[in-house]
Amino acid sequence: MSIVIVGAGLAGGTAVAELRDKGYTGEIVLIGAETHLPYERPPLSKGFLMGAQEFDEALVHDQAWYYDERIDLRLGVRATRIDLQAKVVHTEPVDGGDPVDVSYDKLLLATGATPRVLDMASWPFLYLRTIDDSRRLREALKPGARVAIVGGGWIGLEVASAARQLGAEVTVFELGELPLLRVLGPEVAKVFAELHRGHGVDLRLGWKPDSADFAGFDMALAAVGVSPDVSLAQEAGLDCDNGVLVDATLRTSDPSVYAVGDIANQDHPLLGRRIRVEHWDNAIEQAKVAARNLLGADEKYDRQPYFFTDQYDLGMEYVGNVGPEGYDHVEIEGTTNVLDGDAFRAYWIRGGKVVAAMHANDWDASDAIRDSIGTDR
Ligand code: FAD
Repeated sequence: MSIVIVGAGLAGGTAVAELRDKGYTGEIVLIGAETHLPYERPPLSKGFLMGAQEFDEALVHDQAWYYDERIDLRLGVRATRIDLQAKVVHTEPVDGGDPVDVSYDKLLLATGATPRVLDMASWPFLYLRTIDDSRRLREALKPGARVAIVGGGWIGLEVASAARQLGAEVTVFELGELPLLRVLGPEVAKVFAELHRGHGVDLRLGWKPDSADFAGFDMALAAVGVSPDVSLAQEAGLDCDNGVLVDATLRTSDPSVYAVGDIANQDHPLLGRRIRVEHWDNAIEQAKVAARNLLGADEKYDRQPYFFTDQYDLGMEYVGNVGPEGYDHVEIEGTTNVLDGDAFRAYWIRGGKVVAAMHANDWDASDAIRDSIGTDR
């Protein structure tokens, strides 16, 4: 049997390890358009961006591991087309060269996501997705540099935090009335607004910038979300809708093809609806389940969504998903003056049950917040 994985990111790199861990000794081909070994992206907006972490520390496995585990790793190679009937992936080296066809018995798609482009042609925005993007950004974040960030989501705020710590002057333009409003709701989103203002960020809320707004800046980062990279799946004829549609076992509309990570729009058995999650933990845990299913298991992926962030001295973890139904109220335990190092736990409650929970600066709470999901409150 031959297993082919398209996308050598966090999910791709994790899946190959799980295949070997579960005793699969057959052929594994891992195809990645980037020229780097699979790596984790969270440090790109945090430790690596601030010069506190080396790129090697972000690798999923080192080079020797792929050799020892006999992984046919094809980096700098793009999958250009999938023929589902013939079970063939067509590939081309990104810097030119001859196309190569790769046959598979089972295929895993883990092509991730790409930043949404801001339609403001007159301004040369930087974007942040890859290690090369992070290196470029790091060059620009000099003490005293005037930095504009469009988008007060996770990436925008993490870069704001890194830039302030490096001594840059930072302005964040956010369309919403608060940063992170859609994910956290006003009760907790305002904690992040206070955190950034307290660290000297000029946070301009309810603000859609035009090119005149960028006149005084040395550089501008656009961090306005990502789109799942589904072109390959879509052209192959797999069912797609805001990602590649997968069932509870992460299988696509073709029984030989699975999809995981940022591209997977899963029929989630616990949530009872579809969800596509763009976070680190999801890429790892889905990849493990899909790898076992490629080997013949029929496991459902039923983990509650999870994410974390680090900004200045604040570390937080969040479990669950409020979803389109929203929540009735939020209960906060502890005090939220995070500028003074306060720790708190927050619970989003709907119909008397916890649907999401988080902690800030309370690392003993990791298990407790996960266990709280679905409990009465
Ligand atoms: P990716 O990591 O995007 O990997 C996909 C790979 O597939 C890419 O290398 C791409 O080049 C390749 N590819 C695409 N198309 C093709 C093709 N046709 N042929 C070959 N290769 C292809 N999550 C958190 O929970 N907490 C955080 O603090 C956090 N911080 C983040 C900071 C940054 C700067 C970024 C960008 C993301 C962060 N995330 C965080 C999100 C997390 O990194 C992603 O959810 C995760 O990387 C998704 O993994 P993936 O393998 O699905 O996709």
